[in-house]
Amino acid sequence: MFGRFFRSKETGARGETIPSRHDGFPDTSTLSGACPRCKTQSSFETTGAIPVTFSDMTTVDRSGSMVRVPYDRVAVLVCRHCHQGVAVIEEQMTGEHPSASSKGGGQLWWRGVHWWPFPGGANDPAIPPKIQDTFDEACRAIAANCPRAGAVMARRTLEAIAADRGETDGPLVKRLAALTSQGLLPSTFSDWAKEVRLVGNVGAHFDLEDDVSSKDAEQLRDFIAELLNHLYVLPSKLATRRANANRATTPPR
Ligand SMILES: [Zn+2]
Repeated sequence: MFGRFFRSKETGARGETIPSRHDGFPDTSTLSGACPRCKTQSSFETTGAIPVTFSDMTTVDRSGSMVRVPYDRVAVLVCRHCHQGVAVIEEQMTGEHPSASSKGGGQLWWRGVHWWPFPGGANDPAIPPKIQDTFDEACRAIAANCPRAGAVMARRTLEAIAADRGETDGPLVKRLAALTSQGLLPSTFSDWAKEVRLVGNVGAHFDLEDDVSSKDAEQLRDFIAELLNHLYVLPSKLATRRANANRATTPPR
């Protein structure tokens, strides 16, 4: 019976049903994921929800009173890691469509669409502060449903990475090519980096034919997070492990 609580589930080593790992932000339908406040993978408790947008429909509640049916609500979830609250604006879904669109039927559930505090980006001391600050702004813009602004800031994050690696002059396309040829930008990342540059350009210039979708901006964000992990976080972790291993094997004097 608990299976119905997990929208996305998998089978554990003993055949038990367990919720799938959720890399997105939590809502009342998926009470796990990345905490927008402490940026840790955590689980959450719901403390309450208040409707903010109402449909024209009414229903009868348990006390027999007529109440308006909401389309959107604000839920507050408390993170079990940092013990702080996160406000989530949620829209009511019917099956796979927002209830407000009156499309199709299915089970009613709530889907998170905005989070406060605005979710930032990577949070690691190994990432230079100027890069982290720029990427945080990209993530906040994307979380606030501003994909064009987010794409421009994602492109700017790439410029900051190129500058940190010594490429400060000329168009970004040439700086990325120089980083790739020096082996400073792995070839698997270089095609994606071109994509960030192109989508960032689309975000910066008005064009009737070409625009940046939320999905595009989210993909850029995820790519840059991977790139920062590869260029700064993993090497720093490896260096720490190596230093610890050397300390452990050095014989005492
Ligand atoms: Zn937290």
